[in-house]
Amino acid sequence: MAIAFIDLQAQRARIKDRLDEAVARVMEHGRFILGPEVTAFEKEMSAFSGAALTCSCGNGTDALALPLMAWGLRPGDAVFCPSFTFTATAEVVPWLGASPVFIDIDPRTYNMDPASLEAAIEEVVSKGELRPKAVIAVDLFGQPADYPRIKEICDRFGLKLIADSAQGFGCTIEGKHPIEWADVVTTSFFPAKPLGCYGDGGAIQTNDPEMWALLDSLRIHGKATEEDMAAANYRGHEAKYLNPRIGMNSRLDTIQAAILLEKLAIFADEIEMREKVARRYNELLEGHVSAVPFVGDGYQSVWAQYTIEVENRETVQERLREHEVPTAVYYPVPMHDQGPYKRFPSAPGGLPVTNEKKAKVLSLPMHPYLDEETQDRIVDAVRSAVD
Ligand SMILES: *Cc1c(COP(=O)(O)O)cnc(C)c1O
Repeated sequence: MAIAFIDLQAQRARIKDRLDEAVARVMEHGRFILGPEVTAFEKEMSAFSGAALTCSCGNGTDALALPLMAWGLRPGDAVFCPSFTFTATAEVVPWLGASPVFIDIDPRTYNMDPASLEAAIEEVVSKGELRPKAVIAVDLFGQPADYPRIKEICDRFGLKLIADSAQGFGCTIEGKHPIEWADVVTTSFFPAKPLGCYGDGGAIQTNDPEMWALLDSLRIHGKATEEDMAAANYRGHEAKYLNPRIGMNSRLDTIQAAILLEKLAIFADEIEMREKVARRYNELLEGHVSAVPFVGDGYQSVWAQYTIEVENRETVQERLREHEVPTAVYYPVPMHDQGPYKRFPSAPGGLPVTNEKKAKVLSLPMHPYLDEETQDRIVDAVRSAVD
């Protein structure tokens, strides 16, 4: 039988009845836009990670753009982010005319290297062409970035911190979620993410009620907030027809929220199941491949990906294909090497670790329902493919 890279049907089989009923309830009540399930889901998301507030939105890319809009990012502003990430992390910055500045990664975790971040901020400050404004750290492959050190650097330079947790929602350091350090945590509910829905979706978390109100306004065309309504004596009119700022249309569908409520209920259990799969992979592959994933002490990954390093990656992939083992490369071309992003600056000294790792990383099938027999087939195929 063909092996799935991510088996969403196995999860569906577990909660199928509850999912079907949840969707049917929404079709029955008919409040498809910002219905009661959206509010209920936002509450559950906050409870899950200890954030005060959650603002859902249309996808994980808008979830990154909305806080930058709320902070008034504009041309001449610099936003520091890794180059070794999915496009969306960097893409939202030029939307606002601001400039991404690409940072190198730690060779063991593939997450933002705080030393490279610090050097890049200092260089931008000394050149004086761009104004440092914010940092977007990424929880790549599900592992939290080094938030304690990154937050300390952000505080020292007066920068806002976004945790791009599209791959990492649910990850922790010493039991604490990224919201402990970040001004906002963003995530994506793209189906293949650890917490995914059956379409597009995203969310932003914050502990600041004023920030929440601003995000809520911006996701609905810059509609008037409670405060705007009171200040402008707008009472009696519908907030969405009163637009004191320029926003966008980015909402989580009620049907998706209903699905996510059911998936969130089993999410903690699924993280444990992923952890078990990853541990077993590590035991069976360590010493056979150039590197197995490293997770820091006290760090909990949610294992969006299980990524090893190999030499001669193309040959290995080809041999694995012959064994019907699907693989993927995240990411073959880092952002600083992509055409439209080449004009933006990188950390001083370039990005040597990013440039090395892009040629070696290889992600194997990973999901909570990967049974031991299938795992053994994959491990055997990998061991023989790297020989
Ligand atoms: C998937 C992803 C996003 C974007 O999420 P979408 O919901 O697809 O817009 C942003 N950042 C990272 C790191 C991602 O992996």
